[in-house]
Amino acid sequence: MKLLKFGGTSLANAEKFLCVADIIEKNQNNEQVATVLSAPAKITNYLVNIIENDININKILEQIDLAEKIFIEIIRNIKKIQSYFLYEETKQIIKIEFNKLKKIVHDFKSFKKYPENIQAIIISRGEILSIWIMKNILISRNHQITIIDPVENIVSIGNFLNSAVDINESKKRISKININKNNIILMAGFIAGNKKNELVILGRNGSDYSAAILACCLNANLCEIWTDVDGVLTSDPKKISNTSLLKSISYEEAMELSYFGAKVLHPKTIEPLKNFNIPCIIKNTSNIQSQGTLICKNNDCNQNNILKGVTNLDNIVMFTMSGCLLKQKNDVLPRIFNLFEKENINIILITQSSSKNNFSFCTLEKDSQKILFILNKLFKSELKEKLLNSIHIISNLSILSIIGFNISQKYDIASKIFCALGKSKVNVLAISQGSSKHSISVVIKKENVLKSLQNIHNTLFYNKKIINVFLLGIGGVGRTLIKQILKQKNFLENKNIEIKIRTISNSKKILFLNDLIDLKNWEKHFQESKKQFNLEILNKLLKENSFLNSVVIDCTSDEILSQQYINFFSKGFHVITSNKKANTSSLKYYNDIRNTTLKENKKFLYETNVGAGLPIIQTLQNLVNTGDNLICFKGILSGSLSFIFGKLEENILLSDATKKAKDLGFTEPNPCDDLSGIDVARKLLILAREVGYKIELEDIEIEPILPKNFQKCKNTKEFLNKLKEIDISFVERVRKARNIGKVLRFVGTIEKGGKCSVKIEEINSDNPLYKVKNGENALTFYTNYYQPIPLVLRGYGAGNDVTASGVFSDLLRIIL
Ligand code: ADP
Ligand code: ASP
Ligand code: MG
Repeated sequence: MKLLKFGGTSLANAEKFLCVADIIEKNQNNEQVATVLSAPAKITNYLVNIIENDININKILEQIDLAEKIFIEIIRNIKKIQSYFLYEETKQIIKIEFNKLKKIVHDFKSFKKYPENIQAIIISRGEILSIWIMKNILISRNHQITIIDPVENIVSIGNFLNSAVDINESKKRISKININKNNIILMAGFIAGNKKNELVILGRNGSDYSAAILACCLNANLCEIWTDVDGVLTSDPKKISNTSLLKSISYEEAMELSYFGAKVLHPKTIEPLKNFNIPCIIKNTSNIQSQGTLICKNNDCNQNNILKGVTNLDNIVMFTMSGCLLKQKNDVLPRIFNLFEKENINIILITQSSSKNNFSFCTLEKDSQKILFILNKLFKSELKEKLLNSIHIISNLSILSIIGFNISQKYDIASKIFCALGKSKVNVLAISQGSSKHSISVVIKKENVLKSLQNIHNTLFYNKKIINVFLLGIGGVGRTLIKQILKQKNFLENKNIEIKIRTISNSKKILFLNDLIDLKNWEKHFQESKKQFNLEILNKLLKENSFLNSVVIDCTSDEILSQQYINFFSKGFHVITSNKKANTSSLKYYNDIRNTTLKENKKFLYETNVGAGLPIIQTLQNLVNTGDNLICFKGILSGSLSFIFGKLEENILLSDATKKAKDLGFTEPNPCDDLSGIDVARKLLILAREVGYKIELEDIEIEPILPKNFQKCKNTKEFLNKLKEIDISFVERVRKARNIGKVLRFVGTIEKGGKCSVKIEEINSDNPLYKVKNGENALTFYTNYYQPIPLVLRGYGAGNDVTASGVFSDLLRIIL
């Protein structure tokens, strides 16, 4: 005999009911099948809404109508597909059940809350109707059916809403039922009966447990639980995108996974199966071909992989008790345990300090008021006499558990977990390792649970290095960067690297990307995004999403954003920037950034601040780190000015050359910023600071290219027009230089001692800067190691492609 259980997700609509009927029929061809059904998806939630709210007749009738409509829709569609289905009979039964429900609601309308026995009846209606529908589908396909009534045969111990089952007693009763060998057996899940034959339920998600019990009672050789996922996965796929399927796990591991929150199985399901040595397979109704997950004895399953999963339990509170009583008497814990046993309160996790001065335990939030009340009552005199301090409670917590075979004996797993949590700035309030051999649990704030789950899952189960990107600025560089990341996707995948762009923003809007959004279509989604961007929103978002290897990339030229970097580091983010504003801000801020990166162990990368993609900053840092000293420096640091001065040599007017440079994307948004010399001065300041000079931007002497009144131009167009006024004077300067065999170049200089200047210089043909034009940069470093011939770095120092590729290579340095 085989036991099949189908969850609500497998019974969500007519097609699914019929697919389940097919699976039952197919199995019945080989051996007798007993089937346990849950209520169709969502139905139990509607029914729970009825009992959880204050009794308000109109609202309740609304919920009842919604549930009834789902059933009618299901059977109407079944009839459409399977015309011989017993539609009218089934419809009558649905009507009768819902009328009964409405009558109950009316009968209790003067109550504040429904009594628990009535609550149990209300929320179990879905299962009852699932069985009726399935029975009528199978009868109309000419099968013989035996229905097992769970109220009469599954004997419960406990209360109306969360009962356990006396399996031996249930087995006795079921063995008395006369079941024809050819019949398909059906039983409603979730339901049992107490000693008085009153209906009770087995707790939310309890039909998995019903299935296990029936499998034991019928001596089934296998229990198959059919759901909406391929089996037990390394974490909940609704929370984590890169889970993998576990082919087989031991009973113990499955118990641990479900106990600590893996909803795919009700926590009580596995124990009876283990006791009766019945293997269990979790399978997917929407992917019948998949092998599923086998849950069996440890020796029978593949234990190549120690680690099995990461789970979370939310809505947890932690109580901490302290005081000298704990040291003086050994009976405090037993007294609490006894009382909790009587009150049906479950302690999920417990830790005690080795000094015995205090201990903490975690329970579900819903029990917290009751617990506080009974503890205060239990220890009334001890609290009064100050033998115990007042009981401390922390709410809004979650327990995150890592499950694996003998995991607590592996030395490196806890360290990886803590490292992952620490890197994303998640504090652990309590930890439990060793009480169960197969799990390690940590208590954290609920607000941190999702990112912690993802970080730990990626660290332990995902064989890829993930970099999470929060992109600010989608001008030329930002956009090109996205293109380059897309282009390199497969290449990086082969190197086990995955770049996840989590957000894209400009100064007005922000787009959140998830697995459903294809990065290729980001522009469309960005246009449709209604999410506003501002600093407050950004900071909140970063706080909630500090995944491992998270990076803010600043591709703007925004001053205000550049002042946020320290804030970003403190939230656990690396920063990569093509924006020069931070490094050219006050020396104090410059130093504060460096100090914070050291303190927070984060990277600050800005290779593109000077010379776009050219490896300048890194080269300079390498020289300084290895003891070299800069003697002096000369360089053409502006791609736009290199281009413009190159064009002047070809007898092109300054205004035309500038316009061309702008059209090619070589200039800042307003080319006035390039020609003012300030941009070159900023780059020079960055280089000078990099080699250790403590200077400010004002200390750099700038010989202006433009007359003073040019700075006042409001926009680019006005500026380009005005530029024509000085075209002739430049024609003259170029000619004068040419007459003595020289060219004009806009040069940044760092002299020995740190004096910095930027100015137009006439350059000789034997100078390395003589041939540098067309947007190229050239930097000549005379250092202790590089002299008398200087170290020369030369190449394109502007343009979206090279700048984006510089940012991209900084990005890869985060993990390489
Ligand atoms: P059913 O209605 O079939 O009982 P449930 O919703 O109760 O289905 O359980 C299946 C769900 O359990 C999955 O859709 C998945 O989101 C969730 N789940 C949580 N943890 C895990 C896990 N480790 N492996 C698989 N599924 C999980
Ligand atoms: N229908 C019940 C619930 O949703 C039982 C189950 O699905 O297992 O909790
Ligand atoms: Mg379930």
